[in-house]
Amino acid sequence: MITRHRIAPNCPEFSRLVYGTWRILDEADKSNCTPQALLNRFKACADLGVTTLDTAEIYGGYHVEEAIGGALKLDPSFREKIEIVTKCGIYIPCEFHPERKVAHYNVTAARIIKSAEKSLRFMGIDEIDLLLVHRPDWLTSADETAEGLNKLLKDGKIRSAGVSNYNVHQFELLNSRMDVPLVTNQIEFSLLHMDPIYDGTADQCQRHRILPMAWSPLGQGRLMKKDDPAAIRLQAKAAELSAKYDGATIDQLAYAWIMAHPSSPLPIIGTNKLERIKAVVKAADIRLDREDWYGLWEAAKGHGVP
Ligand code: NAP
Repeated sequence: MITRHRIAPNCPEFSRLVYGTWRILDEADKSNCTPQALLNRFKACADLGVTTLDTAEIYGGYHVEEAIGGALKLDPSFREKIEIVTKCGIYIPCEFHPERKVAHYNVTAARIIKSAEKSLRFMGIDEIDLLLVHRPDWLTSADETAEGLNKLLKDGKIRSAGVSNYNVHQFELLNSRMDVPLVTNQIEFSLLHMDPIYDGTADQCQRHRILPMAWSPLGQGRLMKKDDPAAIRLQAKAAELSAKYDGATIDQLAYAWIMAHPSSPLPIIGTNKLERIKAVVKAADIRLDREDWYGLWEAAKGHGVP
């Protein structure tokens, strides 16, 4: 069952599993990318309890938010049944800005506000449930970034604010300038990317009693590769554990492994395939034994704990 969580005291509830929209326009079969097809998938997710959508201004070369808007337009009442997380701050050369030559970050107050207003317009919504600064911008002061987020919160354009890919120091600094505390750090966290359990970001979330969001839970699909040594070890370990966990597959065990961490991350589902989404939802009920959690850690690393 997909539970719902207030990921921080000062924010709306989100579903424990989140649906990621990074790849929704990448399908070879474009009939899977039409507004109706996307609406159908979002509704199927919501029916499964996955009501939170994760997106970003930059996704799909700045096209995904518009595609979400096109889907929501077909049934405006559906907006009330979901929560929308989006991100701002990454600017790459693209068809809309031929003058832009160098990919860069910009999280100045003016840029954040402009981007959030564009996201609202593109998605055809009045309020963003959670706005994340996509990546730290080394050229912008925390005061500047906080000014933009604080204004958006005050003006009711966003219901909560957080960050993504911030290290512990960057998080502390920006948080110290916020009128209302940051509600999450969206970080890469999976069996194939365990940095958050070593670099302090997951611990920092526990300290602040906020829940992180975990992106690329299957290592961008690398976990399924047949020529990757860590993936091959994990596939063998998953096959060994499967019967004990009611036939669980490697992707289900990988999600259960993330969710078992005491920081209680919200994994973001990356597949476009409904059958795979349904399988992931079942993973929310798997409770891994301590030794099996460490057994998967061992398989990922290729050695036992020190
Ligand atoms: P992921 O689950 O690690 O990777 C998804 C990829 O794995 C897709 O290409 C998918 O292909 C494939 N896949 C999934 N299940 C599979 C299976 N059983 N067998 C074979 N292939 C499988 O997630 P992700 O897409 O990289 O990231 C998830 C979300 O995280 C994104 O949508 C985005 O919202 C968020 N994100 C955030 C950041 C950030 O900086 N904050 C960065 C990256 C991503 P199919 O579609 O064919 O299943």
